[in-house]
Amino acid sequence: MDVELVSIGDELLLGFTIDTNAATFARQAAAVGIRVVRRATVGDGAEEIAAAVRAGIERTGAVITSGGLGPTADDLTKASIAALFGRGMTLDEGILESLRARWKARWSRELPEANRAQAMIPEGAAILPNGHGSAPGIWLEDAQGRWVAMLPGVPREFRGMLADVLLPTMIERMGGEAGLRVVRSRTLRTTGIAESAVADLLQGIDRSALRASLAYLPGWEGVDLRLTVRNASPEEADARLDAAAAQVRAPLAEWIYGEGDDDLAEVVVRALRESGRTIAVAESCTGGMLGMRLTAMAGASHAVMGGVIAYDNAVKVRELGVRESTLAEHGAVSVETAREMAAGIRTRFGVDVGVSITGIAGPGGGTPEKPVGTVCIGLDVGGSVSAQRIVTIGDRHEIRQRSAQAALAKLLRGLGTADSAAG
Ligand code: ATP
Ligand code: MG
Repeated sequence: MDVELVSIGDELLLGFTIDTNAATFARQAAAVGIRVVRRATVGDGAEEIAAAVRAGIERTGAVITSGGLGPTADDLTKASIAALFGRGMTLDEGILESLRARWKARWSRELPEANRAQAMIPEGAAILPNGHGSAPGIWLEDAQGRWVAMLPGVPREFRGMLADVLLPTMIERMGGEAGLRVVRSRTLRTTGIAESAVADLLQGIDRSALRASLAYLPGWEGVDLRLTVRNASPEEADARLDAAAAQVRAPLAEWIYGEGDDDLAEVVVRALRESGRTIAVAESCTGGMLGMRLTAMAGASHAVMGGVIAYDNAVKVRELGVRESTLAEHGAVSVETAREMAAGIRTRFGVDVGVSITGIAGPGGGTPEKPVGTVCIGLDVGGSVSAQRIVTIGDRHEIRQRSAQAALAKLLRGLGTADSAAG
């Protein structure tokens, strides 16, 4: 099925709100074989809304709108689309009653007059129940079976209604699950390896035997590899993705830490917990980012004991026991300092694993020998100390993000080979 999407709202045109609903819809629709062939974004004006919907109806006969269903005067979606279909507006007693009940229950108040507008629906429309908010969605269809589905703009409500009512309704119109031809993807996440090196390692695999397309998606977290199968039944798509993922995993096993939305910090904390080990962090240029990521996951307290933000050299000396002579000889950003920071935090906190980051996030402070982006990462696993120097890219924020990620990558590898943490 081909559909068009119309996102409604001045705030989208102004760039203050990012149109996440369109992305949510396109991804979930593809997974069940629905293709978004065109997207439009329009402001809150009745005429603009009607024009965009009319064009979509004429082309595909299937339009989904997002936004402008609320009670405020700028929410004109329903009325303008009703007019397009030659329908008037009518008060729906059922909606009115549930709005009244909702206001009573949640705010102990009578329904304000303005909110009565939420109970107005186009004549002959079907209601798409909203289990996540107050304004229901609307399904309006003409005699030729051309339709518009209107969903609220609030992302949580849009997402919820998509899953609860809209996708099931659309699947039913396509003849049910059995006949579906879908697009499905699977993402394998790598880190600590450059895009070109990934490509080299994958050179050996037979692309035609892969039976899935492969895209490289580099970002600060690493290089994601997205496998996609198009125009297959759901079962066939999953089977082909399984086979393709196994082929890609083999040469990259060492670099892959997860799939989909997996977060490297969570993978590391899980590995620590499973091996019953504790960790502490010593951070300079990342100022706590690594600690933040390690503690983001519920249950982190079993493994993460704490840390020191040793931004200033005096703190590196006083709190971590880094030697003045090391700082003088090699500088704060050096593998030597990183080693002493990692060892210092491990012994002072009495933990199994110490990890450290010291680097130059910029924009100032770089030298020819140590340019901006130079970062040294230290690791002490049970007394076995190692450190490495990397040069990352990006602006200050990105360098800090990449530094924390690189430390997590080193940790993951170091935990795997606990006694011989290679540097
Ligand atoms: P409400 O009843 O809250 O008025 P509504 O259906 O009228 O719901 P809007 O008024 O258009 O929706 O938007 C409500 C909120 O959702 C706003 O904060 C808006 O920024 C956000 N929003 C609207 N459209 C989108 C979109 N396409 N993607 C992400 N957020 C959106
Ligand atoms: Mg609104």
